[in-house]
Amino acid sequence: VPPLLVADDVSKSFGATPALKGASLQVFPGEVLALTGPSGSGKSTLLHCLSGILTPDSGRISYEGRDLSALPDGERSALRRGAFGFVFQFGQLVPELTCLENVALPLRLSGVRRRQAERSAGELLARLQVADVAGKRPGQASGGQGQRVAVARALITAPRVVFADEPTGALDSHNGEQVMRLLIAAARERGSAVVLVTHEARIASWADREVMFRDGAADTPAVSR
Ligand code: ADP
Ligand code: ADP
Repeated sequence: VPPLLVADDVSKSFGATPALKGASLQVFPGEVLALTGPSGSGKSTLLHCLSGILTPDSGRISYEGRDLSALPDGERSALRRGAFGFVFQFGQLVPELTCLENVALPLRLSGVRRRQAERSAGELLARLQVADVAGKRPGQASGGQGQRVAVARALITAPRVVFADEPTGALDSHNGEQVMRLLIAAARERGSAVVLVTHEARIASWADREVMFRDGAADTPAVSR
């Protein structure tokens, strides 16, 4: 099976600070990949390059064999809306919308009618065990409930890849583990690959493959399970 996403010898600096120094990585369809390693080793920067949010200074990112940086802006943003899903640590839900409307939003934006979008959103909230917050605004949900809603919103379009940057970093370990288990299980059901940045060895151990970063590059060989 060819890889879905490839980072090939990617370097990126912020001013005089090198964040990535020749990082290479492959993401295969449907796999759960954990990026681990010390703080400052370049994990988030690689995640942002893979997802097209940042452009590398040198090296290449390709998605299905096509150079991301060579895609027209419109195609790159279409990828980010449809083929890619994102879960971050904080602040990704629209506070004025209900949780159900937040989850339905990516479908609504891609032209799905309200009833159908909200039916799908309701089913996914139930799968993530937060059906009870559907009618509430995110501010009325707990931290763990809010992250489950954010996971639902990232998965609602059945993306090819979900990027998750320390998605449970703001939760206590019990809630964090619950959210991660549900994220991984729901992504597997949809066939979505997951690229997960985590500090927690226990969470990384649930991935299919773990890549350890050190000093701006992947410390090979990768550990496969
Ligand atoms: P983590 O180490 O978990 O990635 P950080 O707090 O280091 O979290 O970084 C969070 C985000 O803040 C990064 O993805 C990056 O965009 C930004 N960031 C990190 N370091 C700096 C910095 N020195 N100056 C400005 N922004 C930074
Ligand atoms: P990690 O995710 O492994 O903690 P990052 O990719 O966030 O590492 O950061 C790698 C290095 O790049 C760090 O030295 C960090 O301070 C720096 N960095 C990251 N983002 C920024 C930014 N937006 N501005 C300045 N420095 C940054």
